[in-house]
Amino acid sequence: MGKGSKKTVCPWCQTEIVWDEETGPESVCPYCENELGAYRTIHIGLEPEDESAQEVVEGSECSYCGETTVLAGHQTVTAETFVPVGALKPPFTLDVYLCPSCMQVQYVLSELNRRRLEKEDRSDNL
Ligand SMILES: [Zn+2]
Ligand SMILES: [Zn+2]
Repeated sequence: MGKGSKKTVCPWCQTEIVWDEETGPESVCPYCENELGAYRTIHIGLEPEDESAQEVVEGSECSYCGETTVLAGHQTVTAETFVPVGALKPPFTLDVYLCPSCMQVQYVLSELNRRRLEKEDRSDNL
C-alpha cells in the first residue's frame, strides 16, 4: 500500500474501500456495487444505525383509526395558556402522541403530573 492510496468508506455497506493506486477512486463501490456519488442526493433516511435507532415510545390506540400512537414529544402548559376549572392546575406537561396512520394527535397528561393530580385528589377527600 503506497502513499497515494486513498481510503473511502462506502455509505451503503460501510466497507472501507482502499482504492487501487493505478486505477484510482471509482464511482461505484466494489463490494455492494452502489454508486458512491449518488449518496449525497439521497442520503436522507440513511443515517448511521445508532442515530436512527431512537427509542420509540408507544401510546394508546388512536381513537379514530385504532392504530398504535407513538410519542412525538412533550408540551408544557403554563398559566398563560391554560385556565383551570378543575383540579388540573398549570404548569403541567402533556405527552403528545401522534398516530402514524391518520396523523391525529392525542394529548395525555404526563406520568409525573398524573401522579401529582392523584395525590391532590386523595388529600382533598380526606
Ligand atoms: Zn458498498
Ligand atoms: Zn389514527
